[in-house]
Amino acid sequence: MNISHIEHIGIAVNSLEEAIPYYEETLGMKCYAVEEVTDQKVKTAFFMVGQTKIELLESTSPDGPIGKFLEKKGQGVHHLAFAVKDVNESLSELDKKGVRLIDKTSRKGAEGLNIGFLHPKSTMGVLTEICAKE
Ligand code: ZN
Repeated sequence: MNISHIEHIGIAVNSLEEAIPYYEETLGMKCYAVEEVTDQKVKTAFFMVGQTKIELLESTSPDGPIGKFLEKKGQGVHHLAFAVKDVNESLSELDKKGVRLIDKTSRKGAEGLNIGFLHPKSTMGVLTEICAKE
């Protein structure tokens, strides 16, 4: 598996317009990218903290994963992403260990990363993403 660090923490917010000023003006971080991931129905905003990113997630559609999360749970921490060397290798290793997977193989996420999600039923309730640079 070889997890090297926490790549990012994903946080669901109602509105980037409302959330970005809190991170920038109150916490003093700098938003370095805003990107829409159309197949996930989200708009993301990124902040760097050491080698870990904060990824704010605003829903672009109520039937997308973040839209559903916000409706059920409201704003808050959505997922934790670990950096690995190879997403597909890690997914098949976890599959063999009996972890329930949301993604059987990697797909493209924000910032061009390869990503895959593990099911929170297998991770003590923490929606977990593993990701790697190409
Ligand atoms: Zn993520």
